[in-house]
Amino acid sequence: MSSIVLFGPPGAGKGTQAARITESTGLPQVSTGDMLRAAVKNGTKTGIAAKGYMDAGKLVPDSIIIDLIRDRVKEPDAVNGLMFDGFPRTINQAEALATITEVSHVIAIEVPDSKIVERICGRYSCASCGAVFHDVFNPTTVQGVCDECGSTDMKRRADDNEATVNQRLNAYHQQTSPLADWYDSKGIFHRIDGDRAIDEITGDILKSLN
Ligand code: ADP
Ligand code: ADP
Ligand code: ZN
Repeated sequence: MSSIVLFGPPGAGKGTQAARITESTGLPQVSTGDMLRAAVKNGTKTGIAAKGYMDAGKLVPDSIIIDLIRDRVKEPDAVNGLMFDGFPRTINQAEALATITEVSHVIAIEVPDSKIVERICGRYSCASCGAVFHDVFNPTTVQGVCDECGSTDMKRRADDNEATVNQRLNAYHQQTSPLADWYDSKGIFHRIDGDRAIDEITGDILKSLN
């Protein structure tokens, strides 16, 4: 089992790229953010514990995240590895992951802070299939209709507002960005310029995975 990590600030395009490369890699996409939002929606113990942190734009405690991942890797589709999107976000999480699966590539999607707020504040997604869109940069072909599945049920995240984005960027710089050096020292870290067209970025990611 050998896994891939998509790394980068909030709004860098991790989810967008994960959806595009999952077919080529054959690895299922695992977004801890999506797992936590599902837990909040279902009112589980994990969701109740995580909600306050998420609403405030703070990282959810490592123990909660690591438990989620330990359970996820037991699913049958994880046998060949997973593609992690938004995990790990701290050195503790990365150390725990190293005991769970081998990581072959860490793909860092780099986008300057100055571009992040407009990315996040224009984001919406399909409530039915999860496809991610943007008001300006990546709108649906027909307004309000999902390109992937045809659903007209679109949603926006409660934490996708300017105040919370700034908190999330702080958390990224303080707690997550130190992981770049940690993975770089292992020789598996690949930097990709994420401030370009979505297709160009996908092409570069696929190249660095070869
Ligand atoms: P993340 O998973 O890293 O938080 P998303 O994939 O959800 O990021 O992307 C954040 C927002 O930016 C979405 O609205 C998405 O449509 C848009 N987006 C993704 N990639 C690009 C890009 N290369 N250029 C412009 N906008 C993008
Ligand atoms: P983003 O668009 O910021 O990349 P995510 O959907 O990955 O958003 O995460 C949303 C929120 O869920 C984060 O602000 C944080 O509160 C929580 N979260 C998600 N993944 C993790 C993680 N690996 N460690 C700690 N908190 C997490
Ligand atoms: Zn859809």
